[in-house]
Amino acid sequence: MQDVILLKHGEIVLKGLNKRIFEDKFMANVRRRIKEFGDFRVYTVQSTTYVEPQSADCDMDAALDACCTVFGAVAVTRAAACEKDKDAILETAKRYLGGAMRSAKSFKVETKRSDKSFPMTSIQLSQYVGGNLADAFPECRVDVHNPELTVHLEIRDFAAYVHGVPIPGAGGMPVGSNGVAVSMLSGGIDSPVSTYMVAKRGVKVIPVHFFSFPYTSELAKEKVIELAKICSRWCGKMTLEIVPFTHIQEEIRDKCPEEYFTIIMRRFMTRIAERIALANGASAIVTGESLGQVASQTMQAMGVTEECVSLPVLRPLVCLDKSEIVITARKIGTFDTSILPYEDCCTVFTPRHPRTKPKIEDVREIEKALDIDALCDEAVKGIERVVISK
Ligand code: ATP
Ligand code: MG
Repeated sequence: MQDVILLKHGEIVLKGLNKRIFEDKFMANVRRRIKEFGDFRVYTVQSTTYVEPQSADCDMDAALDACCTVFGAVAVTRAAACEKDKDAILETAKRYLGGAMRSAKSFKVETKRSDKSFPMTSIQLSQYVGGNLADAFPECRVDVHNPELTVHLEIRDFAAYVHGVPIPGAGGMPVGSNGVAVSMLSGGIDSPVSTYMVAKRGVKVIPVHFFSFPYTSELAKEKVIELAKICSRWCGKMTLEIVPFTHIQEEIRDKCPEEYFTIIMRRFMTRIAERIALANGASAIVTGESLGQVASQTMQAMGVTEECVSLPVLRPLVCLDKSEIVITARKIGTFDTSILPYEDCCTVFTPRHPRTKPKIEDVREIEKALDIDALCDEAVKGIERVVISK
């Protein structure tokens, strides 16, 4: 018999009557993510999703890797399936977990038996397999209270399963189970992390990038597309919306005082993000801002930035230090791309002395020089869409 992959559900188990909806979403996401690695059967029993290869040519290693990036599971294990017979189970445990038994100092066996017609009780089977494993691996002693290795046995309807130490899952909630949000994706370190974090809470993400050609180059755009691709490993398939931002930035440069450039530019980004959100049924705007990181990320500046929209602005990184953000950026694989040295539109017309405590009345007054609606209309009309799948 072939190996299977088991995914243990996280917060989904806390759901009540609508748990099924979350489980279905999770399974659909798993199926989509592993489709390219072969023909698999995916089903859920008792808060565990089973991924069973349907043919010998399935790439189990790649499927296991992919399963670890699907939000909703707290643990992922590869398990060996075998006949529902005590000696077949023992032999499978020896073969499958021999390496782990040799390197662990202590172990115990835990059995779950959903097929009640199996002729031994859970305790009897644990004792039988545990006793024989202890004889076969004398260096590894039995410790039922605090074992280094737990050998799991499961007796289910059609087969028995043996598995050992699980790998951590991606955590979070299934993408698509918690609404849709627009995520403002620059080429920096922070916004790929905020995009990942909001997707982890089950949100389907529409990434939006503001692009100021020729002040920012084609390479800067390629970099953002690459970042979106890496994020899609976790967030699933997405459509990146690339908004032409040059005219807006030039208007701001020509008609507004320099110390307000950044804050007014950020208000335009937020307005356009809201338009994209409303056109796509999204309920929030996500940014990678972190409190006090730069002048435009003080509480006052954040207040002024979001004053021009009515959708909530979510800032998953607001209380994280840069070093904490970097740890996640490395974990999700965006860091090395983020630090490539291409300019972002924020850096193009950076004021020498930006206002750190802008007042909303002043900003509104200054913005009177600009035709806000026409500029936003023009930008939205020029949007380029790129479908991103890993
Ligand atoms: P990041 O590392 O994400 O670029 P940052 O520390 O450089 O963040 P800012 O440049 O002030 O901070 O941008 C704050 C947030 O505004 C970003 O995290 C991102 O969500 C959004 N943002 C900035 N520039 C762009 C852009 N060109 N396109 C889309 N969103 C942007
Ligand atoms: Mg930036």
